[in-house]
Amino acid sequence: NSVKRAHNFNAGPAALPLAVLKKAQAELLDFNDTGMSIMEHSHRGNAYEIVHNRAIELLKELLSIPEGYEVLFLQGGASLQFSMVPMNFLPANKKAGYVMTGVWSEKAYAEAEKLGEVFVAATAKEGNYCQIPALKEINYDADTAYLHVTSNNTIYGTEWHAFPNTEAVPLIADMSSDILSCPIDVSKFALIYAGAQKNIGPSGVTVVIIRRDFLEQAKKNGPTMLQYATFAKNNSLYNTPPTFGIYMMKLVLEWMKAEGGLLGIYKRNQEKAALIYDTIDASNGFYKGHAQLSARSLMNVTFRLADENLEKKFLEQAKQAGFVGLNGHRLVGGCRASIYNAVPYDSCQALRDYMLAFQKENS
Ligand code: PLP
Repeated sequence: NSVKRAHNFNAGPAALPLAVLKKAQAELLDFNDTGMSIMEHSHRGNAYEIVHNRAIELLKELLSIPEGYEVLFLQGGASLQFSMVPMNFLPANKKAGYVMTGVWSEKAYAEAEKLGEVFVAATAKEGNYCQIPALKEINYDADTAYLHVTSNNTIYGTEWHAFPNTEAVPLIADMSSDILSCPIDVSKFALIYAGAQKNIGPSGVTVVIIRRDFLEQAKKNGPTMLQYATFAKNNSLYNTPPTFGIYMMKLVLEWMKAEGGLLGIYKRNQEKAALIYDTIDASNGFYKGHAQLSARSLMNVTFRLADENLEKKFLEQAKQAGFVGLNGHRLVGGCRASIYNAVPYDSCQALRDYMLAFQKENS
């Protein structure tokens, strides 16, 4: 009873683990002998509340989130966080610093600029965002409201491999495209946010991890639904949460735990990425990576072929061979293989084999 599964390299929404989809399918009509789908349960009822709290618990466990942090479930995607962060944490007498590492950082900056004073603390724009600024090149003073970074740059295939120690300046990260891909030291951050749809579940849920003492500094005059405090005070149940998405998240987190937790997932992610990066590096320039070696992403592998016609052929034949989502973003061009947690090792192996065969036939 094997299921037909594509080699899904989409940048987002992304692949989900087959085991998770099967579990959701099995429970879809009758969740835990209740005669109802989890989607049909009241968000105030016991059946759902157990799922909700378990998802929070699992996130805390997998990410080793220290005491003193809240895990919140919001809606509006990471894009709404671009506005919510400054609405809550950019007072009129301060400036917020943004490290520009790609289009998502630019968008975050542009939204904050509408709401207060912002500055560029460092930029990697030169070379079409193929790198991450050196930590010592990031400029901000002790009075900065917060420093914002984008941990993984989905479009360019670059990723931070070390974060600045910002001391008293709160560090905020958009981790939409690499959260839960490798261990991180949550205690360095005042706030982390991520749209769920790459590594945590289906789209529709935004995860926010926020330090309680930072939360207490938030402005209190914003609209109720745009204050983090509303979600923190009500265990993310102030209004109807995206219950099915949170249920799916819980299944993904359980799957991660069974796969060896963050360390197990991280190890496999490294092996998966190595399959493709090694092929690029051993191709004598047939394939060229976009990101500088030191900034390479574990999640999005961006590369080009020597000439554009060949690139077109590579992508067309890949599609015919059952590979999905390999077209690069128009801002970088070329190819992008997004290899989030749920992309199986076998799919990466199949891509490696395809790349090797294509090179052989075309050089
Ligand atoms: N930030 C990053 C790093 C992303 O990759 C994306 C989407 O791909 C976003 C933000 C936007 O997320 P959303 O669609 O959840 O608003």
